Amino acid sequence: MGPPGAGKGSVSERLADKFGMAHLSSGDILRAERSSGSELGETLKKYMDAGELVPDEIVIKIIIKSISSLDSSKGLLLDGFPRTVIQAKQLDDALAKAGLPIQAVLLLDAPEEVLLKRITGRRICPKCGRVYHIETMPPAKDNICDTCGTKLIHRDDDTEQVVRERINLYHKETEPVIEYYRKSGVKIIEVDADATIDEVVERAIEGIRQANLLEKEGRTSA
Ligand code: AMP
Repeated sequence: MGPPGAGKGSVSERLADKFGMAHLSSGDILRAERSSGSELGETLKKYMDAGELVPDEIVIKIIIKSISSLDSSKGLLLDGFPRTVIQAKQLDDALAKAGLPIQAVLLLDAPEEVLLKRITGRRICPKCGRVYHIETMPPAKDNICDTCGTKLIHRDDDTEQVVRERINLYHKETEPVIEYYRKSGVKIIEVDADATIDEVVERAIEGIRQANLLEKEGRTSA
């Protein structure tokens, strides 16, 4: 969990890769549905472009269906879901049925000005998904993906005004989810995400180690 720009996507991708876990990004799943041209996709676009949360009843159905289609035998890393207390409660029910308890919440955070700078400078390859930053991680050729040569895009919801709205919504709707987990006794691993991606990943792994999650899974060497 974490506000927009904290690095949830990049960090969870690396962690899932390292530990062989399934990775589910709610934003990616919703964006794929959005660009499919379906009627549902049109509805999603309205909320997402405005930086609003997609209503619970829509997002819960889509994400819980996706969770059940994944191979979670080595664990599952949820990225961007749940974002409201209602989603968290429904997720608890679904995971209890699947016999998959939540082991921990990894919470990334950084100062608001850092989040804003990161997101407004972000450019994404619409084909392979590689993420760049105009200042800190520019492509070799202006606005062209190094990996596949596709023209990079600036997400419609990555403009300053929309990002501010997304950060406000994070405080209002998503921070209570952290409290919900704290009260339920779920381990919260807090990571200072005001650093390079490599450093944040290292800090996250160290937090996971200290929480004894690796030993429990028999992954002492990870
Ligand atoms: P992200 O890529 O995680 O920043 O998500 C992009 C956008 O997708 C968000 O601003 C929301 O509009 C929508 N979204 C992603 N996950 C959720 C969720 N769990 N609940 C509601 N909306 C979501």
